[in-house]
Amino acid sequence: MKKLLSIPLLLFLFVGIIFSQQKSHICADSKIAHFTNLNKLNAVQYPGDETIEVTYYKLDVRVYYDQKSISGYITINAKSLRDSLNSIYLDLQNSLNIIQITHNGNSISYTHENNIVEITLYKSYDIGEEFSIVINYNGKPGSSGFGSFEFSSHNGYPAIWTLSEPYGASDWWPCKDTPADKADSADIWITVDKSLIPISNGSLEEIIDNGTTHTYRWHSQYPIAQYLISLAITNYELYTNKFITGKDTMLVTHYNYPERLNSTRKSDLDKTVTMLHIFSKLYGQYPFIKEKYGHAEFGWGGGMEHQTCTSMGYFGETIVAHELAHQWFGDKITCKDWHHIWLNEGFATYSESAYLESVYGHDRYQSNMAGEMSSAKNASGSIWVQDISSVGQIFSSSRSYAKGAVVLHMLRGIVGTETFYNIMRTYAADSSLAYNVAVTEDFQKIAESVSGMDLDYFFFEWIYGANYPKYTIGWNYTDAGDGTYLTKVRIKQAVNSSPKYFTMPVELSFKTFNGDTTVTVFNNAQEEVFYFNLNSLPLSFNFDPNNKILKHIFEITDVEDANTNIYNFSLDQNYPNPFNPSTTIKYSIPRSTDNYSVQQVQLKVFDILGHEVSTLVNKQQKAGNYEVQFDASNLTSGIYFYKLTTGTFSESRKMILIK
Ligand SMILES: [Zn+2]
Repeated sequence: MKKLLSIPLLLFLFVGIIFSQQKSHICADSKIAHFTNLNKLNAVQYPGDETIEVTYYKLDVRVYYDQKSISGYITINAKSLRDSLNSIYLDLQNSLNIIQITHNGNSISYTHENNIVEITLYKSYDIGEEFSIVINYNGKPGSSGFGSFEFSSHNGYPAIWTLSEPYGASDWWPCKDTPADKADSADIWITVDKSLIPISNGSLEEIIDNGTTHTYRWHSQYPIAQYLISLAITNYELYTNKFITGKDTMLVTHYNYPERLNSTRKSDLDKTVTMLHIFSKLYGQYPFIKEKYGHAEFGWGGGMEHQTCTSMGYFGETIVAHELAHQWFGDKITCKDWHHIWLNEGFATYSESAYLESVYGHDRYQSNMAGEMSSAKNASGSIWVQDISSVGQIFSSSRSYAKGAVVLHMLRGIVGTETFYNIMRTYAADSSLAYNVAVTEDFQKIAESVSGMDLDYFFFEWIYGANYPKYTIGWNYTDAGDGTYLTKVRIKQAVNSSPKYFTMPVELSFKTFNGDTTVTVFNNAQEEVFYFNLNSLPLSFNFDPNNKILKHIFEITDVEDANTNIYNFSLDQNYPNPFNPSTTIKYSIPRSTDNYSVQQVQLKVFDILGHEVSTLVNKQQKAGNYEVQFDASNLTSGIYFYKLTTGTFSESRKMILIK
């Protein structure tokens, strides 16, 4: 789904984000939603009846524009998920009336309260057994969310449409109202006055002439989620393209308001075919190749990715690309629950940039992604939606859309473009996820297996964490005197709420006298210093030059006190050893990573009983290599120890005096 303007927070009840360090804990309660601000959901045991698995839906409905009502028969085939199942429930808003429910042709009893239909089955079923019920109902559909069932008009003609995401399917038909349980197939039969054309999902199998009305019989042979089943009804004018790929030829059907289907729009619509080729190449074959892809114009100011027939309020290049990409991410693989909506919206939003890159080049991709990044910086809380009772929280444009897209952009930056699209294709084709549902961990698992990388840190901080890294960068170099330049980069992150700091591979680029050098470091600390030996004089420095990270940079400055070479702590064995009467002791003091000033250094000598016999050094010293002479003229033969101590380092060595 995509709206022209940023989606308003329809029901604003912002819950302070409490981030848990235990991801598994978050996931474990992902099914427990806190429905405090959508009254209709108060009594819903989301996500639907967990004792059944829906295998088939048939909607056979008559839509009355004048009465603003609907009537019909809904057939639901389902499998029992437990033994001795003798009652089930469905979601249906109270405003609709149930006339009768039949099971194996027998009328069965039910109650309809609190938007739940409790049904007593005619007989009981054990695990895996299938049964079928038919619900005869009528009434005036409700309209929640973005307008789940709308009676409207255009140019004097009736226009009727549905947009059920996220919780609106049960506003107009009885179903198991959760994306977690797709029907394996569906039939959608719509009867309307002959002046109107009803569009729905899948293939148009038959048009039945009933006299003053006609019935369009649509069939979806692919699995379909309840919220993707749609109606779009008006005096449509059809414009078609063909998508030819390999041996397959698929019809691309654009159902438009006749007054708006001019030549300009046709040339825009033709781009859909180009997009089908592009996304099939990037993500694998168009998922519903045996059916169709198409648009059905409607009166809502955005687009909604109804399976095989996106509803469109306007036609721009990026929104057409966005909704088409949803056919892979959203429709073929659907987020299991609305906590993971970024698997739909982040992926579709990323795909807008991917489409632009394919057609107009990488610069266009980068500039579009830069726009997503600036929007993503407004995101509050984690991408994993905490409060899925709020439509505004689920469909936060800066978070679920823009930041979700940026996460894919950053993943691409880490694994590389080729591997990234391998991940996307592998995910879209995965046998347990394709035409099914997924959560973030499913995508992470595939990203890790395809890339061979451990990406736990990445998904943990970007999906379950909040905000983005804010860096202060220092750099400098020193001429080593041998034609190389010891170069230092200090990366410091402002302390974030959660995570405290971001772990990311970071590209550092040096423009040098002999050309550019880019290195990637794995930044995994609040403050960290990296050293490089460059073979040419560095002229300038760039942090994350390809904008692979969502970030803010406070400043890039010269680090202080960079004139000293880089050393490790070390205390060398004295030389000579054994000795008589004097020997040389060498040691090194490094620059501290968090303190560039001098440090207190002590070098003392002890006898074998631990008595101090000499203090060789006791003063503040800068980083560097040092050596001192130890004269033992006044000591007797034996074993002695010399010990180097600084604020953070201590080491002892043994030496032997033989006179
Ligand atoms: Zn979308």
